[in-house]
Amino acid sequence: MTIRCLPQRLSREDVDRPLVEVLPELARSVGVLGRLGISTPRDALFHLPFRYDDFSELRPLAELVPDEKQSARVRVDSVKVEKGFGRRPQRVVAMLSDGSGSAEAVWFGRRFVERRIKAGDELVVSGRVASSGWRTGFVSPEFSPVGHDSVHTARIVPVYRLAGGITQRRVRELLARIVERISPLVDDPLLPAERGTLVGLSEALRTVHFPEDAEDVAPALDRLAFDELLALQLTLAQARATRDALGAPPIQVSEEIREAIEAALPFTLTADQAGAIREIAADLAHERPMRRLLQGDVGSGKTAVAAAALAMAVRSGWQGALMAPTEILARQHQAGLAPLLDTLGVRSEFLAGSLRASERRRLHAAIEAGEVDVVIGTHAVISEAVAFARLGLAVVDEQHRFGVAQRAALQAKGIALEPHVLALTATPIPRTLALAFYGDLAISTIRELPPGRQPIRTEVRDRSALANIEAFLADEARGGRQTFVVVPLITESAALTAASAEAEVERLRSRLPELRIGLVHGQQPASERQAAMAAFADGELDLLVATTVVEVGIDVPNASVMLIEDAERFGLAQLHQLRGRVGRGAHRSFCILLSDATDAIARRRLEVIRSTADGFQIAEADLALRGAGNLIGTAQAGLPPLRVASLFEPRHVRLAERARALAEELVARDPDLSARPGLARMREDFAPLEEEGDVA
Ligand code: ADP
Ligand code: MG
Repeated sequence: MTIRCLPQRLSREDVDRPLVEVLPELARSVGVLGRLGISTPRDALFHLPFRYDDFSELRPLAELVPDEKQSARVRVDSVKVEKGFGRRPQRVVAMLSDGSGSAEAVWFGRRFVERRIKAGDELVVSGRVASSGWRTGFVSPEFSPVGHDSVHTARIVPVYRLAGGITQRRVRELLARIVERISPLVDDPLLPAERGTLVGLSEALRTVHFPEDAEDVAPALDRLAFDELLALQLTLAQARATRDALGAPPIQVSEEIREAIEAALPFTLTADQAGAIREIAADLAHERPMRRLLQGDVGSGKTAVAAAALAMAVRSGWQGALMAPTEILARQHQAGLAPLLDTLGVRSEFLAGSLRASERRRLHAAIEAGEVDVVIGTHAVISEAVAFARLGLAVVDEQHRFGVAQRAALQAKGIALEPHVLALTATPIPRTLALAFYGDLAISTIRELPPGRQPIRTEVRDRSALANIEAFLADEARGGRQTFVVVPLITESAALTAASAEAEVERLRSRLPELRIGLVHGQQPASERQAAMAAFADGELDLLVATTVVEVGIDVPNASVMLIEDAERFGLAQLHQLRGRVGRGAHRSFCILLSDATDAIARRRLEVIRSTADGFQIAEADLALRGAGNLIGTAQAGLPPLRVASLFEPRHVRLAERARALAEELVARDPDLSARPGLARMREDFAPLEEEGDVA
């Protein structure tokens, strides 16, 4: 006979069993939890809050501050329901008081609040305070009876990612029950020596959901960040170990070959280019497959380095491949590289999914027969059934679009030897981040631009200078030059961004009637956008108003001015990339950062762009100025999507270094981690979310 009213005794295995079996009392919530991707207690524990509201301090009503989230302990003096009419929703208004004064609380819509509170109740209310005219009050606050231990009020309250039809209250209540019952059962996958001073996993999970004290949150998040980083570093360390075990073709690049290649190039290499080529040559000679990242600003001459690397492989008897993430980029490479490769006596061919089947078959056969030296193309180069006779080096452009998964795919291609891989990127990554997060790559850096580039003069101006700026644009147009005007990104809405671009076109047309002005934005049909871009490129427009779509790959050497409106709204990396659209021809070029921002950080960020053209320096400065936030966007930088760890948190960068060292050690000792199942599971716990969900 079972005694059914006693709560089930739970064991550590229950953490990974179906939630209904473990906590049958939650049976009615299974649907809700499922929509959040939660089917086991462990899933629930790793459904982490993305921010907190600190309602822990109780404020006297007389001291409420508008526009802040606050808590108060109050008495309800009256409750009344005000009917809605027309478009105005129904409101429930409660008058509240405490020893210090009074305030009101308002809830909108049919929320049935009036059934849950009445005059005379003692409540704790928590929520945003707004003031309108002489009245100050709470807007749609959470509330609970005094003395009732609530998870919604008078504490640090977690805020979770939701799914359709689920309320924050419901998720919070469910998680409170699950966390209370389950978090003590979670095994710590780290040994005490590995953990060091980090908080234990059970405690970290409990604290991250329901912190007792604001100060406990950071150490708890640090622990989870470490696990997430370790999971990533384990993946990288295992990939590296498998790859190293396979071995690569040792490509001996003789001094003669190197000199012949340098002599064939139409210019003298910069010292940084030559250095990168030397580093690559040294790597190629190893039987350990090269994994090298070549970073250098747009225009720094990465293509020449890639061409030299490919030529070194080919002249030493191997084939090469160059892959770009899109067909357009691949074609640009084809156009830029083929002449260089030709000069070097290297036979190259273009391969992409869009080629006719017969043409693709012919190419495949030629590649397999070793009649093609270098294949330039899209992913098709690796993903299609292309069998190279002797692939020695693969060059991957725009590394940031090739995540960890793609790097692994290249390796999975069933050839006897691993090719050496060189990845190119124009997005500078601060060194600390690169080492910590790209743990499996060696790095070459080109800092110095080829000689003879026109420096771009950058100025910060406010709107009072607009008339002067417009006169300047008209002057440039009379001189035959062209201008980009980039309008601010309105983050809430692409439609609003487009609307502001249209309004700006109207304004400029009326201010500068003699100029031919065009428009591109992301909401236009692609054909219209391409037509406008082409007209600008052909010199049929003097001025192009654009949202940030111009960032990607438009090359108009005759454009001499980049005017960026509300420049403070853009990331520094973005401003730097935008500025790189001018100064590409022989003309003196200008970048004008228009901004009325007055806050100190915004001014300092713009000053960074004004004072330096060095993308690396900009990235380092951005990192230093941000602390937390979204500098380049992890996706743009090609960094793996992280849920807890922050790339902008120096503490986490140090944790990443520690995780990297530990991962190396663990994989060296036990390559498939078979003795440590908890470590394997860590990867699932931190699998990237579909949507963004940063933990504050
Ligand atoms: P990116 O790094 O953006 O790929 P590219 O390789 O396309 O830059 O080089 C930009 C331009 O600079 C090209 O026109 C290229 O021919 C030229 N270039 C590259 N290296 C040198 C050099 N050492 N001296 C002079 N011009 C160079
Ligand atoms: Mg390039």
